[in-house]
Amino acid sequence: MGSAQTGDIDHVLLSEEQITAKLDELAERIDADYAGKDLLLVGVLKGAVMVMADLSRRIQHQGVEMDWMAVSSYGSGTKSSGVVRILKDLDADLTGRNVLIVEDIIDSGLTLSWLISNLRSRGPASVEVAAMLRKPTAAKVEVDVRYVGFDIPNEFVVGYGLDYAEKYRTLPFVGTLAPHVYSS
Ligand code: 5GP
Ligand code: MG
Ligand code: MG
Repeated sequence: MGSAQTGDIDHVLLSEEQITAKLDELAERIDADYAGKDLLLVGVLKGAVMVMADLSRRIQHQGVEMDWMAVSSYGSGTKSSGVVRILKDLDADLTGRNVLIVEDIIDSGLTLSWLISNLRSRGPASVEVAAMLRKPTAAKVEVDVRYVGFDIPNEFVVGYGLDYAEKYRTLPFVGTLAPHVYSS
């Protein structure tokens, strides 16, 4: 934990060790489910960068590919705007592909349900979701997430790809921010 930003963390919710063990588990399930099938991982920038890098390296699947999309649903603060905008679209043609969306966190689920229907309209064979974190609020939306890392309390978290005003993404663990960060 060599980052200067660790001083802004109130408490660690998920340690690097817990995350690593969960990634092994998820990769094993994904390998079993996609054996002999096509597999295209779609990472949602920027939050999913860490989980995409770590999960994809654990996947043994021979023909696995990755692509990226950037959408915007949050501003620089902690509240969802409910507005989804494509900032960067995929390079891949999804026709006939087995798409696995890789997400950092599902909160309201607004971003994800929008993304799923957007990708489904492009003629893929399947669209599934792997999310490292899920908040209880996600239960309100009709989004079927096949692979979930951790169900976490309804707190704003940072680290492991997740930011607050673009900071804290590089922390190797998931934690909450100390109150002084919000008030400064
Ligand atoms: P949703 O549309 O499900 O409400 O939120 C999707 C996006 O909001 C996530 O991909 C993430 O960028 C951001 N988000 C939701 N909850 C949190 C949180 O607790 N911490 C951070 N840093 N970002 C969050
Ligand atoms: Mg995300
Ligand atoms: Mg953010």
